[in-house]
Amino acid sequence: VDGLVKHFPGKGGLFGKGPAVRAVDGVDFSVMKGETLGVVGESGCGKSTTARLLMQIARQDKGEIVFDGELLGSRALDLKAYRRQVQMVFQDSYASLNPRLTVEESVAFGPRAHGLSAAAALARAHDLLRRVGLEPRRFGGRYPHEVSGGQRQRVNIARALALEPRLLILDEAVSALDKSVEAQVLNLLTDLKQEFGLTYIFISHDLNVVRFMSDRVMVMYLGRIAEIGPADAILGTPRHPYTAALLASQPSTDPNARLEEAPLTGDPPNPINPPPGCRFHTRCQFAADVCRTREPGLDPVAPAHFAACHMAAAGSGHPKAPEVPLA
Ligand code: SF4
Ligand code: MG
Repeated sequence: VDGLVKHFPGKGGLFGKGPAVRAVDGVDFSVMKGETLGVVGESGCGKSTTARLLMQIARQDKGEIVFDGELLGSRALDLKAYRRQVQMVFQDSYASLNPRLTVEESVAFGPRAHGLSAAAALARAHDLLRRVGLEPRRFGGRYPHEVSGGQRQRVNIARALALEPRLLILDEAVSALDKSVEAQVLNLLTDLKQEFGLTYIFISHDLNVVRFMSDRVMVMYLGRIAEIGPADAILGTPRHPYTAALLASQPSTDPNARLEEAPLTGDPPNPINPPPGCRFHTRCQFAADVCRTREPGLDPVAPAHFAACHMAAAGSGHPKAPEVPLA
């Protein structure tokens, strides 16, 4: 993903044309084949908009998407071919299913629309339902309202897999589930990833779940990437004050954990008019003069680890800088 920008037209003002909401405001990142990239940040940071742009449910104002070496929109990769390879599972398991279709019809729908015979599409649906733990004889003929939330999310996963995608975007896909059901679905996702050789983009506000699922983590703030790198580094030794504050704000599962960072207070500023300089400066306990005027670049701070903070560069004296100089 290179230079992705999406501004939504504003709705305020006398003529309903207020200033634009800068939902995604210049985002570059890669997802490696076979990995899970976790995406975190408060609501309004641009996580879901990024996902929708990747799905091409929304079109970017600027920027390019390259999939498996081919530029989206080029002759080698048209939208139709791309869309088959990228599927999404949303938080609301009910809203994403057609209430008039049975579970097996929902899963068979995509393959049927892509040219499989009715029998072949149904056979694929039954295979996938079995694979996500729903016995087709018992569940196939039920309607979405006749199964539980966890079962419905399994149906959505089966449906997302029905076109044999290579990249699955999970946007808060387990967030509405009870903790015990959530764990089952996370384990299912882990197994499916192995079995089908999938790549995941896993969006969640729950850092513990992201830690469990992700190889790398990307932290977003007000439409930009604050920090990206290996999951252990981002969630263990974060270098961006925003990431540190997010972690401090999470309810800890470790009763002996000490709060070393001030947790986040207040809401993020309005994405219509992000603060100048570093967008986080209005909430950052380390903000200096330079932070108010100059926007930090997303610079390397450790191997494969990048942070957009003036104070995070090696040897800067930032409290999170490593004691051992970087090689
Ligand atoms: Fe804080 Fe400055 Fe770093 Fe922004 S650039 S996160 S304001 S220290
Ligand atoms: Mg969201």
